[in-house]
Amino acid sequence: MLSLEESKAESYDGIDRSGDRAVRIAKEVFNNPEPGYREYKTSSLIANEFTEMGIPFEDGIAITGVKGIMDTGRPGPTVAVIGELDSHIVRGHPNSNQETDAAHACGHNTQIGMLVAVAKGIQSSGVMDTLSGRIAFMAVPAEEYIEIEYRNQLRKMGKIEFLVGKSEFIKLGKFDDVDMAIMTHTDEERQSGKFSIGGTFNGMIAKLVHFTGTSAHAGSSPHLGVNALNAATIALQAVHAQRETFREEDSIRVHPIITRGGGAVSAVPDDVRVETFVRGKTIEAIISAAEKVDRSFKSGALAMGAGVNITTIPGYLPKSNDSDLEKLHAENAIGLVGEGELIQRGHETGSSDIGDLSNIMPIAHPFIVSASGKAHGVDYIVEDYELAVLTSAKAMTGTIIDLLSNGARKAYSLKESYDPPLSKRDYLQTIRGFAREDNFVF
Ligand SMILES: [Zn+2]
Ligand SMILES: [Zn+2]
Repeated sequence: MLSLEESKAESYDGIDRSGDRAVRIAKEVFNNPEPGYREYKTSSLIANEFTEMGIPFEDGIAITGVKGIMDTGRPGPTVAVIGELDSHIVRGHPNSNQETDAAHACGHNTQIGMLVAVAKGIQSSGVMDTLSGRIAFMAVPAEEYIEIEYRNQLRKMGKIEFLVGKSEFIKLGKFDDVDMAIMTHTDEERQSGKFSIGGTFNGMIAKLVHFTGTSAHAGSSPHLGVNALNAATIALQAVHAQRETFREEDSIRVHPIITRGGGAVSAVPDDVRVETFVRGKTIEAIISAAEKVDRSFKSGALAMGAGVNITTIPGYLPKSNDSDLEKLHAENAIGLVGEGELIQRGHETGSSDIGDLSNIMPIAHPFIVSASGKAHGVDYIVEDYELAVLTSAKAMTGTIIDLLSNGARKAYSLKESYDPPLSKRDYLQTIRGFAREDNFVF
């Protein structure tokens, strides 16, 4: 029987032996970026790997998701390793798709490599014989909250209910048999260190705002029109004026964009569209800020005598890591890169759907500092694939071995001591409660 340390060493060797393959897959995904709910190639790539490794899986979950299971055959909790399938859309990124502008500007391509590396590490080392419970490999679509209009259409067609994949997986029951989850995002260097752990994220809701006016000749008879663009610009000024009321401790972020500003310059704009997120540290803070944002949108329409339709769509819930799971993960990371390379994160004003999962089960969501540039920017590139794919896969594999060895003692105790902020039912009720459509005509 292998000792814990021997098991880890064996599995790390397994990861190194199949390292070229895992890195090649990460690079192949990088060169074929696909935005959320359209990751068909990426999805079949991971499905093919599971087939080749003999890992039973289900695909087509939430359009493109894949879930594979490695079962020890002994009772015990299920630990999930998550990889995100989707790219971002960044026009001008050197590796963007010419037609869609899709680009891996958040490093999710490495997460698909990590799934393969973790599976190979466990499978090729014989460590499975020493573990209990199951490991779920979850390739989940649509982490990035983009293409709201397109996804809202999918929503209206009944193909999805939520715009991000983990919420959809939760709704479909794909996490019902999972007890805890780990995943690793890449990060750019912000301070010296290789692994960053801990920290919390803002949650957010999204708004699609449609100002309607009346078109008329912009030169000769603007008095006959109702200018929807003016309504929108007044509304945006009103949103900005709310900022002094946002409390520091709520970490509110509101960042609207105009996605349609009018048709022809010679006509008074009658159709203007705005999208925004309302982000905050707590659900209460988000709801309070969103009321102010809605009032602001109404004020622009009121001033101009225009109409405004505000569609509010569930976004992400705030994220918190499970401290026990994070600690275990940090110990494994330290074993690989040394204590001096560990960075402790604080609160961050970005958001992710791992936040949603963190409200119903223990999660660890560390970052591996392996990229350069700015996340979601034209210059974001993963520089060190060995670190990004293989070192992070080793840290996750070590954590799985800790959790599931000795009859899955640590996984059981983590599961038993965990008190979820929300049940699955309450989670779905909470995010469904955000969805609404309000129409005002002045
Ligand atoms: Zn990401
Ligand atoms: Zn991202």
